[in-house]
Parts: sequence; structure tokens; C-alpha cells
Amino acid sequence: MAVKETNRSKKTSRAIRKTKRLSEVEEIALLEAWIESQKPINGTNPLSFPHLPRDAAIGRLGDGEFSPYAGCKWFDQLPLSGKTKDGLKPKYLEMSDIQRASLPHSLCGRDVLGAAKTGSGKTLAFIIPVIEKLYRLRWSNYDGVGSIIVSPTKELAAQLFQELQTVGKYHTLSAGLLIGGRKDVETEKERVNSMNILICTPGRLLQHMDETPNFDCSQLQMLVLDEADRILDAGFKKELDAIISQLPKKRQTLLFSATQTKSVKDLARLSLKDPEYISVHAESETATPEHLNQIAMEVPLEQKLDMLWSFIKSHLHSKLLVFLSSCKQVKFVYEAFRKLRPGIPLLCLHGRMRQDVRMAIYAQFCEKRACLFSTDVASRGLDFPAVDWVIQVDCPEDIAAYIHRVGRTARFSSKGKSILFYSPSEKEMITKLQNAEPKIPIHLRKANIQKMQPISGLLASLLVKYPNLQALAQRAFITYLKSIQKQRDKEVFDVSKLPFEEFAVSLGLPMTPVIRFLKLKKGQTLTAPATTTSTTKEKNVPVVARNDVLADDSESAEEEDSGDEILRQKVAAKADGEADPPAGLPSRVLKKKKLKINVHRPIGTRFVFDEEGNSLPPLAALAGANGADDGFHFDKDEVEGRFKKLKEEMKKHDKEDKLLLKRRLREKRAEKKMKLKRLQGEEEEEEDEEEEQSRGRRNKRQKLYLDSDDDDDGQTNPQMDGSDFASKMSVDAQVDLALQLLNKMNS
Ligand code: ADP
Ligand code: MG
Repeated sequence: MAVKETNRSKKTSRAIRKTKRLSEVEEIALLEAWIESQKPINGTNPLSFPHLPRDAAIGRLGDGEFSPYAGCKWFDQLPLSGKTKDGLKPKYLEMSDIQRASLPHSLCGRDVLGAAKTGSGKTLAFIIPVIEKLYRLRWSNYDGVGSIIVSPTKELAAQLFQELQTVGKYHTLSAGLLIGGRKDVETEKERVNSMNILICTPGRLLQHMDETPNFDCSQLQMLVLDEADRILDAGFKKELDAIISQLPKKRQTLLFSATQTKSVKDLARLSLKDPEYISVHAESETATPEHLNQIAMEVPLEQKLDMLWSFIKSHLHSKLLVFLSSCKQVKFVYEAFRKLRPGIPLLCLHGRMRQDVRMAIYAQFCEKRACLFSTDVASRGLDFPAVDWVIQVDCPEDIAAYIHRVGRTARFSSKGKSILFYSPSEKEMITKLQNAEPKIPIHLRKANIQKMQPISGLLASLLVKYPNLQALAQRAFITYLKSIQKQRDKEVFDVSKLPFEEFAVSLGLPMTPVIRFLKLKKGQTLTAPATTTSTTKEKNVPVVARNDVLADDSESAEEEDSGDEILRQKVAAKADGEADPPAGLPSRVLKKKKLKINVHRPIGTRFVFDEEGNSLPPLAALAGANGADDGFHFDKDEVEGRFKKLKEEMKKHDKEDKLLLKRRLREKRAEKKMKLKRLQGEEEEEEDEEEEQSRGRRNKRQKLYLDSDDDDDGQTNPQMDGSDFASKMSVDAQVDLALQLLNKMNS
């Protein structure tokens, strides 16, 4: 009975599977006919098509009637599989503009270059076609990698993966998240070949291409670049070129970003075929979301932390996202503010964190109200729910960076606010933002200085209490300056205009760290003497950084991270030109890391110093006095003369060395002979004690003569007794004899 039942249930499930397969095949045939018959003309914008009535969404196989899908507003009016439609419900019913404009083109297999504001729903605009394409091809695990979605950051890749899981939950396609830093790379290697959809960062994908045996992308159907302009920029160039070279050219490619690349060169690298350029907000008045309220405020660099602290203290019930320009700054501000307990949970996110910690922080900030300090790792694509304020403490590098940062709030239909603190020297950025096309509606506000809570004093005492924090503050100081120096837009970013001294004080630092990487013109000083606003103990000591800083632009990221900046100070010269040494102040911060010799350092980058301690490039010592200001002029005669002089000096030293050597050899030989004579004397004593006593004494005297006057050139001394046998022996023979005698004695 039991057996019969089992047989029956087996048959039923087989029948269900068969009907399922049949219905799948039928559905795919219907979808393909629908897509093919109603596809929009190339180059048209489906947004301009007449709207379809809400109930006109039917494609029926048999009677060949299909509704047009370009121009429709609802997901269920699109030629999508039932499984995808089920996955979209109940959250996604009506399409956003970018989805309406791009899906009709991407569903029929065209390459798409999509640009739309932040938070406008670009993710679904590529996830839906990825799933649908593989579904219609009946892709299975045996077919290998069918689609690759590339993201610039790990967090964004994880977010895309989540969205793919939501929309594709009724499909049987497999998907893998490949992001660097995860330990299970070996497990990944085993499974990556059986994945249909890969969501990855460029580095990790390339790692698999290089290391995973049999990793095969030859069947790839679709490539997607999210935040395409970022992935196509110089930072990822090498990786992306290597990836593209391993992908088949015959594929569909989708590129999406809020700030799309228009560079023909960039696009040529991807070998797009008649791409559809879809820029849904190109005619929009603003480049940023409509519900975003944007403020900019002039805040001097040395007051930015005071302003940030005051802002956080007055927004304790909001969700805040704070952007700073470097990991070190994020670390310092986070650690320092945490110790000062503002009354809101604090989090921090940057690229140098461990991967699992990074993902945990990202998840935490998605879930709870907090203040997150972050570098630009969080500026692109991340969809943190309900961020109230985006605060840019450090100026963004360009307009695109500004748009992406503020785009972390006011997502989809929600509201949001942003504030940018710009220092007086960065005013030009505001002009650029105000003149941007399309516009960025940014309102200028004046800082309310009365309400500002200065915290540099608190920071100074924190730094005294926590030496680690002091080291962090020094690194934050240096990396901030480096970040400004590395900026490409020199109209906005000018490191020489920064008030170094005041900035150091505002971080709570007792003195200004030496800035070794800056090139300063002769006579230019880094800082003005400390102002009376200084709150540190040393404020009365006029501290200025040295102006003979080493010029080294090529300082590596590793050096940047080493934190071994030397804390030196030079006391401002007194009127008579004399300088008093500062009492009781350390001259150097202990190095934590071992110094590394950079064997890859380019040749000719070593620095030498002149007699006054000024740094010079390696060959500068050979430069003529009439050298041009911008470089060094080499005078041939002078160089030759210098070499001649050097040669003569070397000859002289060589002669002196030889003489010294000779003298030493002579002394050694004399010593040996003395020993020998002593031994001989003892032997004779044994033979005839009495006779020996008188003769031995004479001999010894003679031998003494011999020892002291034996010349190097082997000539005997005229005072030497011809009857003395030792005088006739060569030195070597004497040494041999001595050794024989010694051996005899020992045996
Ligand atoms: P973008 O990539 O353009 O910055 P996302 O794809 O991250 O934007 O979407 C932003 C938010 O909008 C997400 O929370 C997403 O769930 C939501 N969203 C996207 N499309 C729709 C839609 N059609 N209906 C409702 N919400 C949507
Ligand atoms: Mg996005």
C-alpha cells in the first residue's frame, strides 16, 4: 500500500514538473513573440509614448495580440515572466522614470547607457533584464556564468545581491556575491563556475579570472556596470581592461549611473553596439533629487570640528551621514567624538576596515538611527533607508562626488537635507555647484557662531589622556593635507592656503606635525605663529613647522599609513636671529612601525642635504651655481674638474692606507720573531745550562738587534752578526721552526 502511494506521488510530481516545463516553454515563447512584435524603435524614448490604460497589459499566444510595452507605467504591463512579476510584488508595482524609459530597450536585448538621479530606481532597471534574459534562455547551472554585474564597492555589491534575491526569489537561477576581503575564497573558487549571475567588485572578479581553474565566462550573455562612470575612471582602469579582455564581445552591456560618462573613449573600451542613451533627467531643472533641501555654509577649516560637534548635538534624533576625506580623519573624529559621548550612537565606515566589520556597520546603519562617519566608500549607490542629513565636512572632489554624496538622502520619494561646510579657500566649489548644468539648488547660510560649541580644548585634553588618539590626530592632520594636495581641481583646492597651525590646534594637537610631502617655494613658511585662540598648554610657545620640508610627491600609500610623521618644531627666530630651544617638548614621536626600505622606489628620488640642512635632489650637489630656478643646470667642465679632484684625493688616501698596512705587517712579523727567539733560547738552556747562561745572554742581545732592525725589503741590518743562524733564515722558515718547536713542547 505504502509502495503504491509512493509510486503515485512520484508520478504526480513528475506530471507537475512536465506541465511546469511545458508552461515555462510556452511562457518563454509568448514572451519572445511579445518582445519581438512590440519592441520600440531604436533611439526613441519610451517616456514620450502614450500611456497605456491600467488594464491593457496582455500578451496572448495564439491570437497573436500583444499590447505595446513601451509607454506602459506598471510592471505587470511589461513582457516579464510570472516569476519576476511575483518577485516584484508587493513592493514594486509602478515603475519609476528610468525603469519606464530603459526596460523596453534592455528587454529586447539592446545595449543601454542609462543616467538618472540618485535614488531613482536604477537597480531594478538592470536586475530585471538580467534575470529575464537568462530565464528566457533557460539558463541552468551547467551553462556557467551568464551575467556579471560589477559594482565599485563591496557594500553596494552586497546591496545589489540583496535586491537580486528579492526580485528573483521564485526563479531557479543561481547567483554569487564575489567581493574582496572575504576569507572563503577557496569555497568561492569551487562554486563560482556553477553560478549563473555574479555580482562582484572588479578586483575580486579579476582574482577569480586569474586564479580559479576553469573559470569560464565564454558564454557570458550580459555585462552590467553599476556606477559606470566610477568603474570606467582611472581608478579601475587596469582591472576593467583586464576583465573586458576576457569576456566575449558578443554580449549585451548595460551601464547605469547618476553621473554618466559620455566619453567616447570610455565607451569604446566596452565595444557597445548602437547603445541607447537614456538620460531621463537631462531636461530636469536640477541634477539632484527634488525632495532634497541643500545648504552650504562657510566654515573655516579650524572650526569645522566645532561646527560638526554642534550640529550633531543639535540633531540627536536624526539619522546623520557625515563625509570626511580620508580614513584617518574618519577614525580620528569617530574615536574622539565617541569619547566625548554626544548622545547619539556613532558608527564609522572606511576602506581600511576588515570586511566583516564593514558589512556589519553597513547593516547597522541601515537598521538604526545613528551618526555614521564615512569616507567616499559610502558615497555611491548605497540605499540607507531614511537618512535625514548628509553632512559634508570636507569638500567633495568635484560636482559628481557632491551629487553622489547628497544622493544618500532623499531617495526615491522620501525627503532629505544636506549641508556642506566649505572653507574660505574652497569658495570656488560653491560657484561651480551653482553654475552646474542641470542646476544644483544649493542655498547659502551663515554659520551661527554664537551657538557653536568649541571642542578643541576637550580634544586637547583627550589627546593628553589617550596617546593613541594623539597619533591618530597627527595622521588625520597629515592625510587631510595630502588629500587636498592630491586633488586635481587646483582652483578649489590649494594646500598652501590652509591654516596649518590653527588646523592642528583644532584637532587638539599640542604642536603642528612636520609636513614632509609638500613642495614649498623658497622662503615660504607653512604656518603663521600660533594665534591666541590656541587652547593647548603650549600655546604661548610660537610654534611653526619647518619650511625645509622634504619634497616628495611620490609618497606611497603605505608611507601615508605608517604614521611616523616626525613631530619637530622650530621656534620662531628672535629679533637677533637666535632661537631658543623649546624646553621639555619631545622632538620626535616614537615610531610604531619598522621602517621599510622601498626597493621599488624610482631611481633618483633620494634626497641629499646641503650644509645648512636644506634638502636637495640627489644630483643637485653637482649642479652649477648658474642653475635655472626650475631645475638644475649641469656644467660639464665643473663636473669633470670635480671628478679629477676626487680621483686625486682617492689616490692620496690609497697611498696612506698602503703605508699603514706595511707598518702593521712589520709589527706583526717582529712579534713572531720575538716568540721564536725566546723558544730557541729555552732549548739551548736545556743543552748546557752553564754555558748557555753566558752565551744565551749574548745571543739574546744579538737577537734583539735582529728583531728590531729587520727591514721590510729583506736587507739585513749592518749590525747583524753573520754567524747568527736565525739571521740567515727567511721569516717563513723561522715561523715553521717555531711551530715545530711548539708542537714538540705540547707533545
Ligand atoms: P538608484 O540606483 O537610482 O540610486 P535604487 O535602485 O537604489 O536607486 O532605488 C532607490 C530606492 O527606491 C530603493 O529603496 C528602491 O527599493 C526604491 N525603488 C526603486 N524602484 C522603485 C519602484 N518602482 N517603486 C517603489 N520603490 C522603488
Ligand atoms: Mg544605484
